[in-house]
Amino acid sequence: MIWGKYFLVLRCCRWRPSRFLQRSYSFLPGDDVKSLRSVVSPDVSKIRNIGIMAHIDAGKTTTTERMLYYSGYTRALGDVDDGDTVTDFMAQERERGITIQSAAVTFDWKGHRINLIDTPGHVDFTLEVERALRVLDGAVAVFDASAGVEAQTVTVWRQADKHRIPCVCFLNKMDKPTANLSFCLESIRQKLKANPVLLQLPVGSGRNFSGVVDLLTNQRLMWRPTDDGRLFDTRPLSESRDEEEAELVRQVRQARTALIEQVADLDDEFAELLLTDFSDNFDAVPRVQLQEAVRRVTLARKGVPVLCGSSLRNKGVQPLLDAITAFLPSPDERPHDLLRRWYEDDLCALAFKVLHDKRRGPLVFLRIYSGTLRAQTAVHNINRNNTERMSRLLVPFADQHVEISSMTAGNIALTVGLKQTVTGDTIVSSKASATAAARRAQTEGRTGVVLSGVEVPDPVFFCTIEPPTMAKQADLENALNNLQREDPSLKVRIDPDSGQTILCGMGELHIEIIHDRIRREYGIETHLGPLQVAYRETILHQASATDTLDRTVGERRHVVTVELAVRPGDDHAVGSCQVAFLEEAAGTLSGDMREAVENGVHSSYLQGPLLGSPLQRVSTLIQRVYMEAGTSPAMVSACVSRCMLKALRLAGGQILEPVMSMEVIVGEEHLGVVLGDLAHRRGTVREIQSRHDDKVLLASVPLAGIKGYSTALRTLTSGRATFSLELDTYEAMSTQEQNVLVKRMAGLL
Ligand code: GDP
Ligand code: MG
Repeated sequence: MIWGKYFLVLRCCRWRPSRFLQRSYSFLPGDDVKSLRSVVSPDVSKIRNIGIMAHIDAGKTTTTERMLYYSGYTRALGDVDDGDTVTDFMAQERERGITIQSAAVTFDWKGHRINLIDTPGHVDFTLEVERALRVLDGAVAVFDASAGVEAQTVTVWRQADKHRIPCVCFLNKMDKPTANLSFCLESIRQKLKANPVLLQLPVGSGRNFSGVVDLLTNQRLMWRPTDDGRLFDTRPLSESRDEEEAELVRQVRQARTALIEQVADLDDEFAELLLTDFSDNFDAVPRVQLQEAVRRVTLARKGVPVLCGSSLRNKGVQPLLDAITAFLPSPDERPHDLLRRWYEDDLCALAFKVLHDKRRGPLVFLRIYSGTLRAQTAVHNINRNNTERMSRLLVPFADQHVEISSMTAGNIALTVGLKQTVTGDTIVSSKASATAAARRAQTEGRTGVVLSGVEVPDPVFFCTIEPPTMAKQADLENALNNLQREDPSLKVRIDPDSGQTILCGMGELHIEIIHDRIRREYGIETHLGPLQVAYRETILHQASATDTLDRTVGERRHVVTVELAVRPGDDHAVGSCQVAFLEEAAGTLSGDMREAVENGVHSSYLQGPLLGSPLQRVSTLIQRVYMEAGTSPAMVSACVSRCMLKALRLAGGQILEPVMSMEVIVGEEHLGVVLGDLAHRRGTVREIQSRHDDKVLLASVPLAGIKGYSTALRTLTSGRATFSLELDTYEAMSTQEQNVLVKRMAGLL
């Protein structure tokens, strides 16, 4: 259960995907489109699936726009300040202070296929970030060079660390008078605990920032101050009598020597080369060897290449694109390449985003890990255990979706026609293929042929939702179906007693945002009931009961007597209730009647006697069932349920409340206040670890105590702490707490 996620949903709630997708730019003449079609499935070694991580306003959108422009996919320079960028919408962005981007955008750069995948910016441990990171092979971190590393980047960086994703850093906004290279490098060391490998020196500073010197090639790349930056001047750096120039040459020599020494420290192969061939002449170290060594260092995550530029002033973006292709890994250099072996090049893909287009229906973004995806074919969804037909296959080139017939491993594709597929599902060619892959993985002692690794936790909050009029019920159901497919952590069910629609979500804000999206995106004003914690119930003792039902309906008389016993079960798993039959009882029952008895038991497991919450840890033994001929199965079920209720009441009810396992990362200076606050929330601290300069606090906290925690934590720590939550277990409440709760739920308090 992940609270940061709400921020993401919040960020997205004003975004109308259909508007983005329908937006038409007049960029690509017919011929260009044709040539694109011919290269749609490039060699896997030429593919880069990367994300951009950035703190808000660091320049993620501007940089993306420049990349699309220089690679020839847009004909005009989008400008965030004018609100005409391809990848986001200013009004919504500014309103929420956020970047919203399509799930993925594709373009080519010097024979490489680059898929930029949206990494939600300022959220911590979220389902969305986890999912995005799963489909990334590398990342670019964009910084405001006057601010260095900022909070949101730290959060996403930690996630990238966990997934061992190689990164490149881009110090943007070098044109600002306050831009400071050495400060940025220091903050990368301090705050990200990463090892910056500086590959460029800026030429000029502030407004006079005019280009960079590439330390690998010793070339100076200069952009003109005013034009679109497409053309730039590349010239070897040479000795000069000009004083400023001589100073630059001196600095470059120093920086290059430092770079060579640093890389030699991090990479043995390069160190050896240096010792044997170039120990007394670093100037002669060939660019290729140095570049290869930097690549190895980057892939091993021993260092991060650092580049400089100013996207807004159109400087330094092309070398950044070069760096993405040169240093970041291709899909076959990542651990998930194992899937290709297990599937033996049969199809395996992950649905990482579902969008709803009003015209085309659900659009599913797939990352292909193995095999080939073909339009107009049926695919098997492992998670839903069903087979669906894909109608069209598209490549999300910038603003144009180019239709193609097939797509190979390593690529990102956009599919039309998959109506059942949900974010996080694994798609393969057939059920048999999945079984075969599982067998192959098993022989290697591995599991994981299903890619849905991001577990969707049980919802812990719920409330009723009502349409304004009954006439809108069908529209509401449609909206909820679509939203559930985009966001698997949202669950919707119908209350069997009242017939009301119940929204189940991960928290207060999550449900609020769903409410907001239904209003904005589907134009339905709904009413939400009060928010409730999803409690569970169990029993404390063993108890038996017997009940007889004797009812005449029309001409027919139904008579049934049931004897049963309930006792606390051993299995503590959520939803773990059992039913068993004494041999004598089982012997007298036909298959139908046995099923009717089981249905009666299971329906009473859904609603406990105390709060009407689902039961867990209960075992039921059916001791005797006697019925007269002509009694219907429905009556048998009804009698069993009534008897169960009796037995459960006698067995002493116990409410179980959801307890969350929480991790808070906080600076030492705020540890005290955070601990004090947790005690108020009935939290128990399990462990306090040190991570670099931070404290990592591991605690268990009842969900009911967590309401409003993200706001509280922000206030207590001036926004300097991050936290994540996960449903840990359901724990028994004390008698006193339980009495208060039961009275409150009954409206007595
Ligand atoms: P995002 O929030 O990371 O997507 O950042 P944006 O691309 O929306 O940029 C945020 C603001 O910074 C906008 O006003 C941009 O014009 C400005 N900006 C972006 N790049 C640069 C740059 O290189 N130099 C300067 N001075 N401003 C920039
Ligand atoms: Mg932006």
